[in-house]
Amino acid sequence: MLKLSGEALQGGMGFGVDPKVLTAVAREVGTAAKQGVEVAIVVGGGNYFRGTSAWDGLERATADYVGMLATCMNALMLQSALEKQGVATRVQTAIEMKEIAEPYIRRRAIRHLEKGRVVIFGAGTGAPFFSTDTAAALRAAELDVDVFMKATKVDGVYDCDPALNPNAKMHKRLQYNDVMTQNLRVMDETAITLCKENEIPVVVFNLYTPGNIMRALCGDANQGNPAGRRGQRA
Ligand code: UDP
Repeated sequence: MLKLSGEALQGGMGFGVDPKVLTAVAREVGTAAKQGVEVAIVVGGGNYFRGTSAWDGLERATADYVGMLATCMNALMLQSALEKQGVATRVQTAIEMKEIAEPYIRRRAIRHLEKGRVVIFGAGTGAPFFSTDTAAALRAAELDVDVFMKATKVDGVYDCDPALNPNAKMHKRLQYNDVMTQNLRVMDETAITLCKENEIPVVVFNLYTPGNIMRALCGDANQGNPAGRRGQRA
């Protein structure tokens, strides 16, 4: 399970999708898929809209639905970029939009993965008050994946924000509970709890380092990633 945030896809653009980032992601995911790694992707929507940015008069639940629709735009663009690389894909959405994507059906998603198709999940969990990290953890548990890979703008989990503090220390390995007790903010508590309860290892890596998706998906020992053998599901 690869979780791509909307913010990561926007690259240096500040809004929307950076075609260069999208193409680079698609190329690397495509290489891993062609090597036999089963890849499922949950995309965020923060590059367009977040429910937490609801304003007075726009209720939170409605804002969250708008956020979920934003993730679907990213899902379609990612699908297109992957298909350009010759990778078979399917988009499944948690809110039905049959004209442009399949509805989320767990068994069908598994079948696609087994057939080597990359499955992209849009619309998060389909319910407001959740995040796409939680959606990714939920789908990861449902699909019984081997690893949850969280792409970020930094190399891993730090004790404080490395963008603000040059002395920030990166954790090489963490227990699930550390994320909560040390308030590490790598993902929200619901998501990390789901990973913990279902014993899904989480790998955090830098999306912008060339080759990193491939390394994480295919199991680089330095990243401590248990995925990567042929037939593994990520
Ligand atoms: N969202 C939601 N339920 C979900 C997933 C997402 O309501 O299951 C909404 C929520 O408003 C969120 C927005 O969709 O702010 C975009 O997702 P997220 O912020 O997780 O995207 P990312 O930060 O990964 O780009």
